[in-house]
Amino acid sequence: MLEKIPYPSPNFEPRSPKTPLDLIVLHYTDMRNAEEALVRLCDAEAKVSAHFLIHKEGALYQLVDPIYCAWHAGVSSWQGETDINHRSIGIELDNRGHTFGPEPFSAAQMNTLADLLGELTKTYAVSPHRIVGHSDIAPLRKKDPGEMFPWANLARKGFGLWPFETKPAPHHASPLLPMDSLEIQRALSDIGYGCPQTGVWDENTQKVCQAFQQHFTPHDLTGYPSAVTCQMLQGLLKVIKSLTVTSQALED
Ligand SMILES: [Zn+2]
Repeated sequence: MLEKIPYPSPNFEPRSPKTPLDLIVLHYTDMRNAEEALVRLCDAEAKVSAHFLIHKEGALYQLVDPIYCAWHAGVSSWQGETDINHRSIGIELDNRGHTFGPEPFSAAQMNTLADLLGELTKTYAVSPHRIVGHSDIAPLRKKDPGEMFPWANLARKGFGLWPFETKPAPHHASPLLPMDSLEIQRALSDIGYGCPQTGVWDENTQKVCQAFQQHFTPHDLTGYPSAVTCQMLQGLLKVIKSLTVTSQALED
């Protein structure tokens, strides 16, 4: 068991008995330091919390026992589900964020995160693929953990999804067909994002596209579907499809 420093927050409630615990959500604190963030996450008036906070030097704090529901997600959705606090574990990463940063995530912090994810996915039977960022579940409101977060490295350790076989190239060098607005909206929704399905590239679609880019194409954050964005979208859909086929085969 990983060593956890107890730092109890009053901001939690019982989990809904009807909701499975099947998702892990990563956040950054967006504050100057971990001490300030811990105070806020334990302030009864702020009504926010997370289960864990990882200091940039690697120390792990437990604020809420994962058997309870912590208040970290706010208005959010993933794969059509909206009761995210009740079905998830929330992990805050001490980081200066978009407000005081940018700041890279340290190796010590990422090592503790990987160890914690290993423990949580075993203890609570959450699929290691179901690890997302706050911006993935609340793309209209949130930008954390941000484009500095090393999602591909984490996926290499077995946590979260990444289309490793996709080697993005400009369209003229790519055999893939370009996608129209509705196809992109459908793809984002098939991955799990709450995305309009109108065929119109409106402001909300742009924000959802930007959330996808923050996670998968951190050097391309325009909110518009470049060739690289489309290829990563298609690559990720392929990965998800192969996982579904594998889990169906196991059930059969
Ligand atoms: Zn957050």
